[in-house]
Amino acid sequence: MLSPFIKLRDDCVLCQKLMNAKNENDFLFDGGNHFLVYKSPFAQKWPGALMAVYKRHIYEHSQIRGNELLDTLQSLVCLEKAIIKVTKCKRINFVKFANVANHLHWHIIPRYYKENYLDKCSWELLDVAKEDLYKNFEPHFFQKNQNLYANLRKEYTFEIHHRDSSYFGCALFLRARDKNKRNNIWKLSLDEIIKSARENPSEWECLLMKRNYFDFAWDFIGGNSDINEFPEYTMIREVKEEVGWKILHYREICRQWKQGTIKGFVYLAIPEEKQYMDDDPPRTPCDEVQSVKYFNLCEIIKSNHFSDSVRGRIKAFIDKRSDFLSIDP
Ligand SMILES: [Zn+2]
Repeated sequence: MLSPFIKLRDDCVLCQKLMNAKNENDFLFDGGNHFLVYKSPFAQKWPGALMAVYKRHIYEHSQIRGNELLDTLQSLVCLEKAIIKVTKCKRINFVKFANVANHLHWHIIPRYYKENYLDKCSWELLDVAKEDLYKNFEPHFFQKNQNLYANLRKEYTFEIHHRDSSYFGCALFLRARDKNKRNNIWKLSLDEIIKSARENPSEWECLLMKRNYFDFAWDFIGGNSDINEFPEYTMIREVKEEVGWKILHYREICRQWKQGTIKGFVYLAIPEEKQYMDDDPPRTPCDEVQSVKYFNLCEIIKSNHFSDSVRGRIKAFIDKRSDFLSIDP
């Protein structure tokens, strides 16, 4: 969660909160590269209010490194989107004070339709009792919190994965259908594997993962590129994050287009871990992956079970097309 290359301070209450996140009652989840997410003190009056604490001890936005600025803002916007979606609020108060705790952090506060003082800032209302803040005060509004925060986490994960990104990079892991032939893969070059799979696709299977969020669909292992990240490194990073494997060799096999631009790249990939061809291959657990499974290439193309993207990638690979157009949203 925290990089070993940052120094936090013993005399800062938010640095302490970062270091002891696991033991903090209000800690909710890791927001990625830049911040941890906690329940905001504002959540007592505005359920769903979150506090994002920057992972370095700095004070101002101008101290965020230039190359991290855009990604930080994009991640915060994902938090905002998650709150809007889950709470169905009227608007968001998005604030950075750092007056009490002198360490960069933000409060993202949903403001609800049924509030009495919607024209006032949330921090101006701290002296107003929560019963007086809302028309038709309903105690259960404040008690439904367990699901609320679990849903915020789920929607944030979804938004992070679907944020605008230049490209995605994903891995095509292949194995022979016949168990006895699987180990031959170690004697073949990437070109020979590609040739063999294209000539006899029904003899080859491809590994897909079942997403553990949003639509719970089967997809390739991979994800969206970070700012300024080459898609091949995205694929290598995502494979490491999602299953814990280290890629030994890879080769670009097709480019997925959408609305006139390239959306992503698919790479045939061979990991270092030899057991990757097992039925239930050993992998490191990842919140975003429910399970992984091999499917026959010909069955993937024929089945409506899989998205247009998944089928399109396999079909483009077999048809030796380096480019294909995707219709998935
Ligand atoms: Zn600090």
